[in-house]
Amino acid sequence: MERKMKKLLVLFTITLFSNCSSIDQSSGTDFHVHVGKPPKVKVDDVSFDAQRSLLALKSIDLSRALIISRAYQRHRTHEQVKEENDYVNLTQNSKPQIFTGACGISVTHKWALEETRRCISLGFKTFKFHFMADGLDLTKIESLKKVYVLLNLISQSKLTILIHAAYPKSKQEQSLALLELINKYPDITWIIGHFYGRDFKLLPKINHKNYFVETSILPLWMKSKEDKSALVTFMRRIGMDKFIFGSDWPVIHQAETLKSLRDLGLSKSEINQILFSNPKSLDRLFVR
Ligand SMILES: [Zn+2]
Repeated sequence: MERKMKKLLVLFTITLFSNCSSIDQSSGTDFHVHVGKPPKVKVDDVSFDAQRSLLALKSIDLSRALIISRAYQRHRTHEQVKEENDYVNLTQNSKPQIFTGACGISVTHKWALEETRRCISLGFKTFKFHFMADGLDLTKIESLKKVYVLLNLISQSKLTILIHAAYPKSKQEQSLALLELINKYPDITWIIGHFYGRDFKLLPKINHKNYFVETSILPLWMKSKEDKSALVTFMRRIGMDKFIFGSDWPVIHQAETLKSLRDLGLSKSEINQILFSNPKSLDRLFVR
């Protein structure tokens, strides 16, 4: 009897150990977190700074975040742009194992090139662009010229771009033009925001391997069982190693984004791969 108990105990320990060792939670990452510099005069307790985002991502057992500076928003003065990017930079420098920052740039700003240079010299490894919010028409050469100047610089330094990639149905030509940009710059590591939105079927047309797909928003739009399972089949075809978790906090809470991902019907190990294993391919963003 005692022998049997011992045997059971050994078996239990092995199972426990193998379950724990298969998931390294310290690499769990949210790659789409918006933060803003806290106001100088505190008006209430609800601010959307990095410290608060940490509480939100810890609520689903994640440990790290790519925090996005507000400076990419169009209607900001040069002073505000520098303040927001500096805030994100200070935050990533103070907790480099937890936070990595995306320098925000609006292509429409007169100082876009100057700020891109400044962010590179500060040590930013990632940039965030939102060409749609910039009102940019990527099918026009005048717009593209503004973009090329910045991407050339980012490409030379082999840095990363988190790109907003979810255009409405009426703007599919913008998604196609974005695809050309992604293909033109294989030295940039692309994080395709929001799963490429409704145009996710363009993903196999990316002609290099230097990209990851961030999974926010699109799963929330998949309402029917058929759509959900078609998306899972598609993900498996692309390769599950390409997908990384992003929430879009505070627009969408991490718990809601994760639930929408689980509801697609991915296996538990696929979910863990997206949350914990795949982010290891981007560990370099956290080492400073
Ligand atoms: Zn966002």
